[in-house]
Amino acid sequence: MASDLEKTVRDVCQRYGNDRTRMMDIVTDVQRVHGHVSGEAMDLIAAAVGTARVEVESVVTFYAFLTSRPKGKVIIRLCNDVIDRMKGADRVEKAFEEALGIRAGETTPDGVISLERTPCIGMCDQAPAAVINEVVVTSLSTDKAREIVARLKMGVPPKRLILEYGDGANAHDLVRAEVKNNIRRAGPVVLADYVAGSGLRKALAMSPVEVIREMKASRLRGRGGAGFPLGMKWEFTRNAAGSRKYLVCNADEGEPGTFKDRVILTERPHLLFEGMTVGGYAIGADSGILYLRAEYTYLRAWLEQILAERRDRGLLGRNIMGKAGFDFDIRIQMGAGAYVCGEETSLLSSCEGTRGDPKNRPPFPAQKGYLGAPTAVNNVETLCCVARIMEKGAGWFAEMGSEVSSGTKLLSVSGDCSAPGVYELPFGVTLAELLVLVGAPDAQAVQMAGPSGQLLARGDFGRKICFDDLATGGSVMVFGPDRDLLEIVDGFLEFFIEESCGYCTPCRVGNVLLREGLGRIRAGHGTPDDLTYLKSLAESVKTLSRCGLGQTSPNPVLTALRSFRPVFEQRLVALKDGLLPTFDLKAAVSTAEGITGRQSAHH
Ligand code: SF4
Repeated sequence: MASDLEKTVRDVCQRYGNDRTRMMDIVTDVQRVHGHVSGEAMDLIAAAVGTARVEVESVVTFYAFLTSRPKGKVIIRLCNDVIDRMKGADRVEKAFEEALGIRAGETTPDGVISLERTPCIGMCDQAPAAVINEVVVTSLSTDKAREIVARLKMGVPPKRLILEYGDGANAHDLVRAEVKNNIRRAGPVVLADYVAGSGLRKALAMSPVEVIREMKASRLRGRGGAGFPLGMKWEFTRNAAGSRKYLVCNADEGEPGTFKDRVILTERPHLLFEGMTVGGYAIGADSGILYLRAEYTYLRAWLEQILAERRDRGLLGRNIMGKAGFDFDIRIQMGAGAYVCGEETSLLSSCEGTRGDPKNRPPFPAQKGYLGAPTAVNNVETLCCVARIMEKGAGWFAEMGSEVSSGTKLLSVSGDCSAPGVYELPFGVTLAELLVLVGAPDAQAVQMAGPSGQLLARGDFGRKICFDDLATGGSVMVFGPDRDLLEIVDGFLEFFIEESCGYCTPCRVGNVLLREGLGRIRAGHGTPDDLTYLKSLAESVKTLSRCGLGQTSPNPVLTALRSFRPVFEQRLVALKDGLLPTFDLKAAVSTAEGITGRQSAHH
């Protein structure tokens, strides 16, 4: 007789057509039933989909939200990014630990509750926050942490921990989240009201080539940070050889400090799906994939319902809006907790059911992407702009913003400011103007574009937010005058070390060495040579790393050295008689002296 595990694996694999490219869904579903994906489960899955066990295991061990070992039925994943720590995540962690009687990384002896740390979960505007199974809890205090543990111990399921719902669709029956949108400034492009079908109708009245021409006329550039012209990307994809093409939306915003996609997915899903549909029409694709980060699983049922509604209304499916021969549908692919999957080729690897390893480029996804077919990978905000451009016209859009950056930009603002949240502003706004809006008159520094961006000092605040000056995917972290900037840089390096996929040595080892070098300076053991070493090591890591993660991970060090060199210099050891204190013998033996209770004989 088949065991429970055998039945689960058989049912789950059949649900996905025994298709090994759906490995992410298969292992996630098996884990949902059995709590983990055991070695036995891996063998069964491998046999069912016709692959090697190692292929299954490499997926299960790569993603933070998957596990091959049993964990608690309830997993508390407490966000420990820089902003959450600034807002008290360390105190909250201690409260969780005390109430549970375990340390972070452990499971209670009864096997019920695990406590883990996790990098950014997209809630920096309401930090500290955590994900408990799939339920997000925000604005945590030590009292709230203790209360949560007390209720979990009483057997209250995570879903019932939420006592008050957030605003807008957060209160919808299919979401029921305490998350707040914190929309502080709604602009005319992404956050304005939208009537489903209005942009798509106009697109379908044109030819696909005319739609691409409209995108070019609007001068729309990708909102993910790189700013590649959208019309050109679609043209490459459309013209690439291949009978089947795909459109993939990257909703894996994992850059610490970014949370605008969360708000779009909650409040403007029609706008997004409509942009994807227009994209499918323009490039000649019949399938779209929304790659949704695991931290946003709480939005999945809501998004599936919007997709179902669009199918019912003829906005997805066959002969869309009566356009004979235009068939397009969208499926949601869940991620499983890997920052590197925000990089488009890693994301495609993940969609194909493997580890989120980056791929060599060329070929670019437009030539050879998902399952080897030409694929346009676009950002959530970019696709929303597409639908709005179709509704209002390229000219209307191009008139907004600055000369080379048309339209608006959504900014996720967090940190030391009185009004954290989402701001939709025209490109060209200065950082100083933004800081007034968000209530941060005394900011000493701003981290622009997340940890992979740049740390800016007051001298940079007059600069403009746009592609030709301060380019950003949307993350803006504000640091007040009392923050220790080296501690913040250290936090960013810790994040990159954790998220490196480990494929190439410069990134895997270089970031660790950078952190050690910074640690020497923070501990008061650094010399002027350490600054030279840090700079040259950081440049090597940037130059020699294989993908965008390693190529940008040293930016916190380099930009902090550029903007805040005196902060480093203040921590350096003063030279004595022109000699470098390369080894502090007294400090080195002090621990041993403390343990033995004796003084060493040294001079
Ligand atoms: Fe992996 Fe880092 Fe190399 Fe990218 S740069 S392939 S994340 S090790």
